[in-house]
Amino acid sequence: MAYDHNNVFAKILRGDLPCKQVYDDVFAFAMHDIAPAAPTHILVLPKGPYESFADFMAGASKGEVFGFFAAVAKIAAQHNATPDFRLITNNGALAGQTVPHFHVHILGGAPMGALLP
Ligand code: AMP
Repeated sequence: MAYDHNNVFAKILRGDLPCKQVYDDVFAFAMHDIAPAAPTHILVLPKGPYESFADFMAGASKGEVFGFFAAVAKIAAQHNATPDFRLITNNGALAGQTVPHFHVHILGGAPMGALLP
């Protein structure tokens, strides 16, 4: 499916919508989730127009992939309230993806418990 340039994260990356920014570099942008599911709930987005994790891994360069995941690691180390954290990415609607721009959730700051089914 073609990338939707009007999805909410594309608008945030363009500066057309506000957000609580946490991090910004050439490869990645991060912000606090608008509806946090844990004391720390940060979303990390690649800068490029990738709809999902699968789309990102199929289309991004090695530099983009490394740069993005290096940023995820840095943000988790620097901005999480606890040393431990959970990473989640929902790939596709069936998995719970609601915004069609690839993003990784960083969750932490409290015991995470079991994963839901
Ligand atoms: P997912 O369901 O994996 O696609 O995750 C989308 C996440 O984006 C959800 O946790 C939403 O709470 C969050 N979200 C939606 N709109 C915004 C927004 N404008 N700013 C920050 N987070 C948002």
